[in-house]
Amino acid sequence: MRVAIIGAGIVGLATAHALLDRGHEVVLVEPGAKQGRPTDGNAGWIAHTDVMPLASPKAWRNLPRWLMDPLGPLTIRPGYLPHLAPWLARFILASLPHRIEASIGAIRSINAEALPAWKGLLSSLKLDGHLRENGILSVWRHRSSFAQAKDLLERQRRFGIPVEILSPDDLARLEPALRNVEAAVLYPDACHVSDPALLAADLMRLALDRGAAHVPAHVLAVEPRQDAVHVRTDGAMEEIISDRIVVAAGAWSRSLAQQLGDRIPLDTERGYNATYPKGTFGLNHPIMFEGEGFVATPLDTGDRVGGAVEFAGLTSLPNHRRTDAMVQRLTGFLPHLQAETPAKRWMGFRPSIPDSLPVIGPAGKDPRVVYAFGHGHYGLTQAAITSELVADLVEQKPTGMDLKPFLPQRF
Ligand SMILES: Cc1cc2nc3c(=O)[nH]c(=O)nc-3n(C[C@H](O)[C@H](O)[C@H](O)COP(=O)(O)OP(=O)(O)OC[C@H]3O[C@@H](n4cnc5c(N)ncnc54)[C@H](O)[C@@H]3O)c2cc1C
Repeated sequence: MRVAIIGAGIVGLATAHALLDRGHEVVLVEPGAKQGRPTDGNAGWIAHTDVMPLASPKAWRNLPRWLMDPLGPLTIRPGYLPHLAPWLARFILASLPHRIEASIGAIRSINAEALPAWKGLLSSLKLDGHLRENGILSVWRHRSSFAQAKDLLERQRRFGIPVEILSPDDLARLEPALRNVEAAVLYPDACHVSDPALLAADLMRLALDRGAAHVPAHVLAVEPRQDAVHVRTDGAMEEIISDRIVVAAGAWSRSLAQQLGDRIPLDTERGYNATYPKGTFGLNHPIMFEGEGFVATPLDTGDRVGGAVEFAGLTSLPNHRRTDAMVQRLTGFLPHLQAETPAKRWMGFRPSIPDSLPVIGPAGKDPRVVYAFGHGHYGLTQAAITSELVADLVEQKPTGMDLKPFLPQRF
């Protein structure tokens, strides 16, 4: 079949390879990496050991403190509140205990397959060199807040995820530069990539080498007709005709789905980061600073601190005072870090759904259109397994995973 993929972010690129593996003709319709697409600037974690949705007891516990601080880990720009209201209402519903349990089960079901899927994809393309398998740390400033994480750690263990609670000596040996940490955990099986932008660039290059076509255009409309699915673009090739369409346009997917009659509660959680020259942090592992809303990753190309959640939509300008505030908080853990060291600052658009689950499934009116977006904080982690599921959906074959929690019809 001829399959047009709208969006060549990490999800679209992984999907291109899954479809090429199965012998399909692939057309990537991508205007050229929109400013702030998260595929390029994310933290690089294959966070398959994570199981909690954003609507979690942890978030609600921290919410009052976070919202009091306009530069804190979670902010809603006041002017954006009316637009966000329907999303927020669903977020509150997703926080009901039985809904949290459902989200945890679904996140685990997809994350459990995430690393094997990435390993399969990377090794088939001889890109294994992008994977860094030396674990990820979570650290807590206070033992009292670590105590609140005990249930989560127990749950992860019940899921079969290795979790090692570290003694102060263990932590000092693994991360001698870290200060002001009273508790730490190592997830030895979690991993990260060399640099997410380099990985995406390699996946794009190899997709083209393998015969995929690239149409450098912005999709304006998707029109399923009897003969085929037609895509209208703003590019020189105004119409693309194909047997199947995959919508993988990240946070920009909502209006495309809406044209097809599907009202998906997709919004963006904007995230910020700063990337310093390699070695600046002196860290050996990626680290989650629990309760602070940021992570640090020693990428091959530089040391990145990133995170935060800002609800302000797709068009308003970044507020890099948030990045500066995050860096300032990081200096509390890495006192040798000079906040004024020049860093590259960035803001990107996580494609977010209130229940923290991606949308993977056929469009309501026409199964020839398949959705693959809304991966929120886990788009890199889940891209490879998503691509396998999407390839099954494109071929209208049964998937090896229960897709009910991810279907667009769940809303
Ligand atoms: C600060 C931060 C840190 C993160 N860290 C991690 C992490 O460590 N691990 C993890 O798993 N996830 C992480 N994420 C989330 C992850 O980056 C995203 O979930 C993921 O990149 C989404 O990928 P995507 O391909 O769906 O979307 P995108 O990266 O947004 O790509 C979508 C593509 O679609 C194109 N497009 C848009 N509209 C159209 C159109 N109309 N026509 C044609 N093309 C179009 C865009 O140009 C873009 O290239 C992080 C995100 C942020 C912001």
